[in-house]
Amino acid sequence: MTHGKKIILLLAAPLALLGSAAHAALHVFACEPEWGALAQELGGPLVEVAVATSALQDPHQIQAKPSLIARARNADLVVCTGAELEIGWLPVLLQQSGNAKVQAGQPGNFAAADFVRKLDVPGQLDRSQGDVHAAGNPHIQTDPRNIAQVATALGARLQKVDPAHASEYAQRTANFSQRWQQAVNRWTAQAAPLKGVPVVSQHKAFVYLYDWLGLKEVAVLEPKPGVEPTASHLQSVMAALKGTPARMVLYAAYQDARASEWLSKNAGVPAVKVAFTVGGTEGAKDLFGLFDDTVARLLAAGAKP
Ligand SMILES: [Zn+2]
Repeated sequence: MTHGKKIILLLAAPLALLGSAAHAALHVFACEPEWGALAQELGGPLVEVAVATSALQDPHQIQAKPSLIARARNADLVVCTGAELEIGWLPVLLQQSGNAKVQAGQPGNFAAADFVRKLDVPGQLDRSQGDVHAAGNPHIQTDPRNIAQVATALGARLQKVDPAHASEYAQRTANFSQRWQQAVNRWTAQAAPLKGVPVVSQHKAFVYLYDWLGLKEVAVLEPKPGVEPTASHLQSVMAALKGTPARMVLYAAYQDARASEWLSKNAGVPAVKVAFTVGGTEGAKDLFGLFDDTVARLLAAGAKP
């Protein structure tokens, strides 16, 4: 018995060393599932991706738990939305991680929103208006054209932080970008009947989606961004819809659907659950599935007959 154990121990050490040498993956820490999925697309076997949140969590409201801090501690690259989406938890998490490589301003810190044109940038900042984002609306992932721009920038960043594999990242990024562009063309054509369709949003989470497809937001169920809908605000939305009817009400998978369902029942329009990110619905298994599923749900609910 003792002898047998000794052999195992002796063998275990060199095997472990071999294992780590062969598996020198770049550690990516993604704040949201869409960026985890994108890093995986662009990095393939070269990266090991940890995602801080699931599609069923509100990305504005995450706790900087010790398990997340531990993940950030050994990260080579942090990939988040930025534009203040994670302002309530990411700065604390990065500070607690003690990881110099991934602090703001370092090559190991990538903020996707830096690489797209922001919508809803306030002319003047008034926090009394709710959870208003000074840097503009942070929910950029709902427009696949933004994903394309972020992919180009993230591909370049992967090359910078892991120069030994630069040509592989460049190749994977070019390949992804080509497939993505074809898919965007397909979705845009499929969604053409949605142009000009009036919709209600539960949270101001879809401005980029509307900008892409030409949907018209006629009301928002949250009285202020990030503030739960109140009965009186819902009544005023109902009143407004009498003059400007909407075809559907959209909510993100992570949200409590009750306000949207209430409006659906009272205004007689479908409530549409939008995956919002990878994993939000059964169909949103990856980035391509995210938009296949989103376009299909919108068409089912709101295309003109
Ligand atoms: Zn928001």
